[in-house]
Amino acid sequence: MKAVVFEKFGEAPTIQTVPDPKPAADGVVIKVEATGLCRSDWHGWMGHDDGITLPHVPGHELAGVVVAAGKQVSRWKAGDRVTVPFAVGCGRCFECNSGNHQVCEHQTQPGFTGWGSFAEYVGIEHADTNLVRLPDGMEFATAASLGCRFVTSFRAIVDQGRVTPGEWVAVHGCGGVGLSAIMIASAMGANVIAVDLTDEKLEFAKKIGAVATINASTTPNVVKAVKQITNGGAHMSMDALGHPTTCFNSIANLRRRGRHVQVGLMLGEHARPQLPMDKVIAFELEILGSHGMQAYRYSAMMEMIRTGKLKPELLVGKRISLEEAPVALMAMGGFEGVGIGVVTKF
Ligand SMILES: [Zn+2]
Ligand SMILES: [Zn+2]
Repeated sequence: MKAVVFEKFGEAPTIQTVPDPKPAADGVVIKVEATGLCRSDWHGWMGHDDGITLPHVPGHELAGVVVAAGKQVSRWKAGDRVTVPFAVGCGRCFECNSGNHQVCEHQTQPGFTGWGSFAEYVGIEHADTNLVRLPDGMEFATAASLGCRFVTSFRAIVDQGRVTPGEWVAVHGCGGVGLSAIMIASAMGANVIAVDLTDEKLEFAKKIGAVATINASTTPNVVKAVKQITNGGAHMSMDALGHPTTCFNSIANLRRRGRHVQVGLMLGEHARPQLPMDKVIAFELEILGSHGMQAYRYSAMMEMIRTGKLKPELLVGKRISLEEAPVALMAMGGFEGVGIGVVTKF
C-alpha cells in the first residue's frame, strides 16, 4: 500500500510503498477513506511523543470501510463504514471496566503507538470495543474530523466541563479543537467567548455560535477582558491551544468554583507551565484534563449531529491528497487556515 512515512524526527516524510497491514485476531483492517491533519501528528513528527518507533506512519483521525476482520471479531465485517477514537482501549483493564476507555492503561493509538492512517489501509486492534458505526449519509471527511478534536471537545465540554445552559464558557485558541468546543458549548446552551490571535478565526467562531470574541494580539489583558464580558469570570474555560499563556489565562479568567479543562497538548518545553495555584485554592477551581472519548459515548454526540444541533461538517477545511500530506503535516507547526484539513484522496 501507499503510505506517508518518516524515518527520522523532523525530517521530511515521503510517500512510500509498504506492506499492507493484516488484522489482529480481535482487530480489523480499514480502507482509509478520509484522515484528518492534526497538530498532534506534527508533535509526533517533531519527536515530542516518546511512544513512536521509527520508521513511522502518522495519522489518527480516520474514517473508512472495514475490509478484513480477525477471527475473534463478532460485531464488524467487511463493508462496514466506521470511525474510531484515537485512544483505542484494551477493553479489559481497570479503566476500561469502569467505562473509561479513553485513559486505558494499555491503550494503543494509531499513528503513535503503531502505524496510522496516512496510508491506504490501517489496522485497528480490539475492534468490538472501539469501532463506531457511521450514520448513513455522514461523509467520510466529516467522520474523520470527529475522531480526535471533535470528540475530545465533546468530552471536555459535556462530560469533564459539565457545561449547563446559561453558563459562560471561554475557549482559548480557535483551531480545530477550539472551534469544535465553541460549537458544542453553544449547542449545550452556554454563552461562549472565543479567544484567538487572528480576526479571521474569530469571525468564523462567531458564525458557529460564539457570542463574544477577544483578539489576544490587540487586547492587553485577556483575563480582564473575559471577566468584564462575563461580569466576574467564566464558569468553564478551556485551553484549546496548549501554550503556557493560554493555559494560565484559561485558569485565571474563571469565576469562583469554575472549571478549567486542558485539551491543547503541553509537550516538550511547555510540559510544566506556571499556574495561578493561589487562585485555584482561594476560588476552589477545578483543573481537569480531557483525552479523547470512549466509543460508547459517540451515540450522544451522533444524536446531536443527526438532529442538526451540531454540524461538524462546517469545520472541515481544506481537502487534500495523500501526496500533499507530507508538506501539510510539516506546516502544522504554524496556525494557518480555518477548520480541519482532511486527506480525502489516496
Ligand atoms: Zn488529532
Ligand atoms: Zn483498557
